[in-house]
Amino acid sequence: MAIYQEYIMASTLDEAYALNQKKSAVIVAGNMWLRMCKMRKKTAIDLSALGLDKIEEREDAFVIGAMTTLRQLEKSEALNGAFGGVFEKALSPIVGTQFRNTATVGGSVYSRFGFSDVSTVLLAMGASMVLHKRGEVPLEVFQQEKPDRDILTHVVIPKGQRAGVASVRMSETDIPALVCAAAVRDGKMNIAVGARPARAVLAAKGVSPDLTAAELGEIAQNVMYGGNMRAGKAYRERVAPVLMARAAAACREV
Ligand SMILES: Cc1cc2nc3c(=O)[nH]c(=O)nc-3n(C[C@H](O)[C@H](O)[C@H](O)COP(=O)(O)OP(=O)(O)OC[C@H]3O[C@@H](n4cnc5c(N)ncnc54)[C@H](O)[C@@H]3O)c2cc1C
Repeated sequence: MAIYQEYIMASTLDEAYALNQKKSAVIVAGNMWLRMCKMRKKTAIDLSALGLDKIEEREDAFVIGAMTTLRQLEKSEALNGAFGGVFEKALSPIVGTQFRNTATVGGSVYSRFGFSDVSTVLLAMGASMVLHKRGEVPLEVFQQEKPDRDILTHVVIPKGQRAGVASVRMSETDIPALVCAAAVRDGKMNIAVGARPARAVLAAKGVSPDLTAAELGEIAQNVMYGGNMRAGKAYRERVAPVLMARAAAACREV
């Protein structure tokens, strides 16, 4: 259980950032992951009052506040309309409705979980992270970095793309044993693999959307997989080409 000595509802991002520079402080978003961690912190910093829970549409991109819940993404007509329903498909298997009503996109990507459906889809879609201090950083770069004490404010998803996702779970509501996402923009396809079980990676960038099953199989082979209680390495190696082919096919359908 997480124990916080004081709870501060930040009234500006600068205030939240300043408070978060101490190791004894922690940003609290949906608190769905944090509440299960065994830790004691002096200061919990709540970002709820900063208006970061909106999905905004720009001419070239969707800009999603870090406190937007997974359920908002899953149910957003604008997002699902623009991207062929990929968010509904990717996020609806995560735990349950009440959970997704609380867990946030910021908590998901900031944590760089090795089982993340969310990061896998955003990675394929070429999303970037807007950090209060550092500014905009491509998710591809952010994914490789160690967590620091900056604050994620928004996630930017470029428009004009089609995306697809496919995952496998050992039982409904469990975390995925493997997830693949593909996105096609300007005639070029990105493919991401997550729950390897390790941080999601881009398996292919800017390849033809018309790759054959054999070519997708080669791409899948070049990704590093491991084993855990959900699936062995060999299982993931066998399933990855199939999920990749399904994600790529879903891009073509929408
Ligand atoms: C039982 C369980 C099952 C899950 N299953 C899945 C699954 O199948 N697929 C999947 O993709 N995910 C899954 N998740 C992850 C989940 O979707 C959320 O990502 C997770 O709970 C964190 O979101 P949160 O908003 O609750 O963040 P919190 O728990 O509040 O925070 C998580 C971490 O992120 C930091 N943080 C949060 N927001 C910011 C910010 N804006 N800036 C900087 N740091 C920030 C916090 O300090 C903390 O370290 C699961 C989680 C749990 C607990």
